[in-house]
Order: sequence, then C-alpha cells, then structure tokens
Amino acid sequence: MPAMICPSCSSSRVFHSRAKTLRDRAFKRLVPVTFYRCHDCGWRRAKMKGGGVKAILLHLLSLIGYAGSIGLLVALAVGFIMLTLSFLGIQIPW
Ligand SMILES: [Zn+2]
Repeated sequence: MPAMICPSCSSSRVFHSRAKTLRDRAFKRLVPVTFYRCHDCGWRRAKMKGGGVKAILLHLLSLIGYAGSIGLLVALAVGFIMLTLSFLGIQIPW
C-alpha cells in the first residue's frame, strides 16, 4: 500500500484509523472498509479494503451468518412469548 496523501492539506501523515464511534463500527460491519485519518488536519475517510469482489462476497457471507444468528434468537424469543401468551389465554395484541 503506497503512502496516501491527504486530499485536504496534502500531508503524507495519513494513517489507518480505528473505528471509534458506534456508527463507524456498524459501517465497518456492513462493508469491508478501512478508515484513514490525516494527523495534520483531521481529515477522515473510509476506503474499501483490497481483495476485490471475492473479499466483499466473503464479508457479506459472514454478515449473513451474523444476521442469521441474531434472527434465530429473535425468532426463538418471539415464539416463546407467543407460546406463553397463548398458554395463558391472552390475546396477542397484533
Ligand atoms: Zn490533512
């Protein structure tokens, strides 16, 4: 990876930056990106990681697995609540 030049101040002190905020982390979870930050002017940007389409597909697959495991937990929780409600004879409000 060649040294990056800051498009804002032309400094070469552009380094990888870790995702600090929740929004950045969520974004990083969705798309295989690396964050860059200029140490001179504070310019930041997210750049797609190398590896091409294959890397993106692999990332999407892991994301689907991640979302799937959460979906399964939610489905189990909803199923349990509905079962409990019907067992108690309570009308489901939706
Ligand atoms: Zn800069």
